[in-house]
Amino acid sequence: MANHHDRWRVPEGERPKLSDIDTRSTAGAPGDKAETRAATGPLVDELAELQNRLWAEHRRSVLLVLQAMDAGGKDGTIRKVFTGVNPQGVRASSFKGPSTEELEHDFLWRIHQQVPGHGEIGVFNRSHYEDVLIVRVDELVPEDVWRPRYGTIRHFERSLVDAGTTVVKVFLHISKDEQKERFQSRLDEPEKRWKFSAADLTVRAKWDAYADAYADAIGETSTEAAPWYVVPADRKWYRDWAVLQILLGHLRDLDPQYPAEEAGLADLVIE
Ligand code: ATP
Ligand code: MG
Repeated sequence: MANHHDRWRVPEGERPKLSDIDTRSTAGAPGDKAETRAATGPLVDELAELQNRLWAEHRRSVLLVLQAMDAGGKDGTIRKVFTGVNPQGVRASSFKGPSTEELEHDFLWRIHQQVPGHGEIGVFNRSHYEDVLIVRVDELVPEDVWRPRYGTIRHFERSLVDAGTTVVKVFLHISKDEQKERFQSRLDEPEKRWKFSAADLTVRAKWDAYADAYADAIGETSTEAAPWYVVPADRKWYRDWAVLQILLGHLRDLDPQYPAEEAGLADLVIE
């Protein structure tokens, strides 16, 4: 493996067989839960350091796209992975059902407004991929509208990459059983109940249709320039560690540099 995050990477042109990927896998982890959590702390610190350099350099940006089935852990991942990062340098955007105004524009209109600027790490909690997922499963538009979007998305992401944005897409892969457990605990714990909606069950009933839509979307849009990663996510400690590995792999490659300082500063003493 050229880079250890290649373990989760979906090669260009390959449709992932999601049912063959063990959602409970801990492959490559430094140890059991406690050991992996212990190894995650230094990664959080390293992310903070690299983000600081990315901000100082102010020439490039990173976009992390997070997609998952309901209760897949997008919120928890964002909380854990970015816990050490200066809030000035990260921007999280979540995409719900589009507003009337958004529906009056092309599907990328609202997305493009949220992409990270120089020095920023942008995090998408859901994304333009909803427009080939829920939109397809619920037949919100006909197939001759959603299918060409794969190509539109490839071009869009390519244009972000050409403008200096590293695009990293992660599918947090949980099992249907794990979703059941998480839904049940949302119902059982009053302080989590607000996260549950009866509509989640309607979506759960369409699990297989979503799994198909995800496999197609990932297969159609995982490119060299903007790869997809499928992360086994039933175990939260493994998920957090893996997402950090992926993000850090890209940031280490970027190797952002502090800008050149003005001449003579090292000898300057303030009177
Ligand atoms: P959680 O995962 O914690 O429940 P959430 O991201 O599901 O949070 P919700 O408000 O429950 O937040 O759901 C947002 C809903 O908006 C999802 O059902 C999603 O599929 C839907 N949505 C997002 N983008 C689009 C879109 N372009 N068209 C239609 N629906 C969309
Ligand atoms: Mg929801």
